[in-house]
Amino acid sequence: MVDPRGDLDAVRDLVVRDGEIAELAEPGGGPDVEGAEIVEADGLLVLPAFVDPHVHFRVPGQEHKEDLETGTRSAAAGGYCAVIAMANTSPPIDSAAVLGSVRDRAQSEASIPVGFVANVTRGMEGRELTEMAELRDAGAIAFSDDGLPVSNARVLDRALQYQRLAGGVIALHEEDPELSANGVMHEGEVSAALGMAGIPAVSESTMIARDCALARYEEARVQVQHLSARASVEEIARAKAAGTQVTCEATPHHLTLTDEAVRTLDARFKMNPPLRSEDDRQALIDGLRDGTIDCVATDHAPHAAEEKEVPFEEAAMGVTGLETAFAALYTDLVLPGVLPLELLIERMTCGGEPFGIEAPRLEPGARANIALIDPELAWTVGEDGYESRSYNNCFGGRELTGRVQMTVAAGQVAFRQRSFAMGVAS
Ligand SMILES: [Zn+2]
Ligand SMILES: [Zn+2]
Repeated sequence: MVDPRGDLDAVRDLVVRDGEIAELAEPGGGPDVEGAEIVEADGLLVLPAFVDPHVHFRVPGQEHKEDLETGTRSAAAGGYCAVIAMANTSPPIDSAAVLGSVRDRAQSEASIPVGFVANVTRGMEGRELTEMAELRDAGAIAFSDDGLPVSNARVLDRALQYQRLAGGVIALHEEDPELSANGVMHEGEVSAALGMAGIPAVSESTMIARDCALARYEEARVQVQHLSARASVEEIARAKAAGTQVTCEATPHHLTLTDEAVRTLDARFKMNPPLRSEDDRQALIDGLRDGTIDCVATDHAPHAAEEKEVPFEEAAMGVTGLETAFAALYTDLVLPGVLPLELLIERMTCGGEPFGIEAPRLEPGARANIALIDPELAWTVGEDGYESRSYNNCFGGRELTGRVQMTVAAGQVAFRQRSFAMGVAS
């Protein structure tokens, strides 16, 4: 069992009772568990389960890509016990009525807790603000127009004023549409060689600089989503040093892949922000290590096959990632010694904190949010299909090491590998 926040790194018998961690007993002590289900976890890592502050579950309106049942099953299969779903749906979640309906659906369809953000602007058009206070009262966990930036500084400034009153945080997709223009990949050597229109790193970093300045001016709280570039990490570091209330995320794909992958012309490597240079990737890793980047978020973005099985330039932007986040980062960053396991656990469990979701812990009295992972199991991504309804995973076909065997979310078993056996204590 490893829980970095509790300095726990030991072999224990963990007892879950009534949805809570009841006991962490010395092995062989034989806690009283008659009639309980026994999970033999020899050789497995037992970790606090992960929290993803940034997923797209496509509800309402695009259930052919993902719905709350497949989305939460995909999350649980990745060791996640809670996620936060974005609001760029169809229609977007810009009213209390739409928010209420997705929250109702989650009650019956989701297998792990889902927090829903509501839009910052009506129809995600970037002009008029939504009824932010009313949306908070209706249960919006935060606000975001993710998928799109809030381009108009005056609109964002007013949203920040409301956020300070209504609470929650404003999660920002940072991109200057004029600079990104019709780019389809990172602007650099590879885009030049391929003759493709590029999205420069400054498209992201200049907006981060602007929005951190606005957040500081309004004493509001922002979460900067999916950092992709060195210049962006530098802007966040500057903003934090100046006392801005800003937190930020990086994705597994930006931490492990570069624009070199785009040479394959495989649309599974097309997302926004795009995969950038090796120098950018190294800056993200350093930022994650030193805490400039607070957490890992997948930006799980399911797309139908017909949107991806087209020429690269025409393909939709976005990749799925819930089922492979831990394995990709464990294989590419922990096993080679780039990051310690404890740091990865911390950055994968704390992502809900800016949204008011406590990081899961392995300690008596805590809600049972637990991931069991086989750290030696090598598996080929996608070989047995996916729990997600979509299969635009950028690690598909790759062999990764480390596989989630079982996930307990909010006290309930939310996922178990079929091959993973259990017994009953007598
Ligand atoms: Zn985004
Ligand atoms: Zn997103």
